[in-house]
Amino acid sequence: MTRPVRVYAGECTVTYSGNSELRTQRGRVVVVHKPDDTVLVHDAEGYQPVAWLTRASAVHLEQTEEGAFALVAVDDGEQLRVESEGDSSRASHAATPAGTPVGTCPDCEGSLVRARGAVTCLDCRAEYGLPRDAAMADSTCDCGLPRMAVVRGARFEICVDRDCEGLDAAVRERFDREWSCPDCDGDLRVVRERTLFLRCESHPDCDETFALPREEVAGTCDCGLPRVQATARGDNTCCLDSDCAEDETTPEAGR
Ligand SMILES: [Zn+2]
Ligand SMILES: [Zn+2]
Ligand SMILES: [Zn+2]
Ligand SMILES: [Zn+2]
Repeated sequence: MTRPVRVYAGECTVTYSGNSELRTQRGRVVVVHKPDDTVLVHDAEGYQPVAWLTRASAVHLEQTEEGAFALVAVDDGEQLRVESEGDSSRASHAATPAGTPVGTCPDCEGSLVRARGAVTCLDCRAEYGLPRDAAMADSTCDCGLPRMAVVRGARFEICVDRDCEGLDAAVRERFDREWSCPDCDGDLRVVRERTLFLRCESHPDCDETFALPREEVAGTCDCGLPRVQATARGDNTCCLDSDCAEDETTPEAGR
């Protein structure tokens, strides 16, 4: 992601071929070549490019003569060729993801934004991946980074840097051995294998596992498992195990 956005401008002939179509346009246009090899040709009006290729498999630039260029993008049977006629200009600009501002980078004072599932510094490009359902919290960590809010049985506010304050450690501290296995009465341990979940301490002799609720828990069922909001049944709570025999709110049909 360190490649720049390249911008070309001038009177050009734009030829697109693909999808059994051949189209030639000529005009004074601005061509934007993004780091992901998306090429957009803009004319004087509207938000929409007059021609484009999204994430081309290859883009190359030919210097046709002094001050002129030809940019060719190809992708799986499609080709976009933009050739300048006479004088043209070109420039390069550094570009980053654009997202919601969420704070200031403690390392370089750059702006931090949340975009595409991560918090990224626009200056030093430090990047902190977020769980998909994370919200930004209002608080700032001691390290200077913003905190995120994640609900896993309870609401956890933790640093976006998992090496600073880890979600796993926070959930483990709160919920490890908090509930017991409905089958063998062993303690449920907080375990991570791709996702965080609850697993009976007698594993592999007992194979009971449960997903950690993506909401705050509301008490404990007689079977030992947490109770959670029963989204399908109004304001009621129900056992984390929808087949639980101890749960009197489980509908008859479900038993
Ligand atoms: Zn930075
Ligand atoms: Zn921190
Ligand atoms: Zn068990
Ligand atoms: Zn239960």
